[in-house]
Amino acid sequence: MRCAYCGRESKATREHIISSGILDLFPECFLTFDGNHKVIHQADPMVKDVCAACNNDRISYIDSYAKQIVQQYFLRKYEADSVVEIEYNYTLLQKMLLKYAFNDLRARQDDISFFNKDVLGFLLNEDIAKPMDNVTVLAGLAVNTSPAPDFMFGNLKLQWCKSPVFMANSMVENIDYTTGQIRIREPFEVETFEGLLLSYIFRFNSGQFILLCWDKDSPKLEQNLTVIKLQYPYTMLHLNEKTSTLERCTNEATYHRFQLVDVNWGNGIMDEISTMRRLASGSDNETMEKLNDSWQKEEARLAEEHCR
Ligand SMILES: [Zn+2]
Repeated sequence: MRCAYCGRESKATREHIISSGILDLFPECFLTFDGNHKVIHQADPMVKDVCAACNNDRISYIDSYAKQIVQQYFLRKYEADSVVEIEYNYTLLQKMLLKYAFNDLRARQDDISFFNKDVLGFLLNEDIAKPMDNVTVLAGLAVNTSPAPDFMFGNLKLQWCKSPVFMANSMVENIDYTTGQIRIREPFEVETFEGLLLSYIFRFNSGQFILLCWDKDSPKLEQNLTVIKLQYPYTMLHLNEKTSTLERCTNEATYHRFQLVDVNWGNGIMDEISTMRRLASGSDNETMEKLNDSWQKEEARLAEEHCR
């Protein structure tokens, strides 16, 4: 077999799609829902086309960083109005998300043409500290503001998917404040970005990241980045800043459908719906707190039962 990273002929070893160090942080998430092959299994998500030298040595520095940043900021849950300052290494974050996307694409037998010699060299070489100019990273906090507790949709703390859908307009068109009727926009208006070659969205518990890989020569790059900065509830991370402030990027719909990226004003409308429902129901948060408490106990039991 030819190693997917270094290209040398060698015996194939299994590489984790998402670093095993991150999986270790969430032992209660012991099932893999593989949408590509339409199976659910207990083994970790892997791809078997990497040589032992790359797997255990050359690219493992990326895994160490990945585990560290998730452990530091995203093990805990946040509130709807939380503001969190994170300190990060932008180059290593790029490498981490690129590596996961590359692994996932190979597992799906999908197009890996973005990962040319330069990009693979960037991943393999720990000493390259300069980030790639044509790769953008967006980040935000995933907070469940919906009336549906987490476990209702499965214990989906770690998720990733290719080509998130960027809305061009809010998912909800309007609310009738006298009746409370909500009108969903149909059909959805979807934004497209010229020169976008590859995109991925990742959720690591309460941290959500979007990776955007651009055609280097696209004349629209600057314009696209401006639209993205203004239109979406994500923070664009930067080379020259070592810290950034993250806020909630999800609303009550996109929290459970993480591949959908609503616009800023869409989040605003969804938040109004959440508030209206809470006020109209007249109940306090007691039921939800009870449910979450018992779910946390169940999670602790699962973590122990499936300890890694
Ligand atoms: Zn190799």
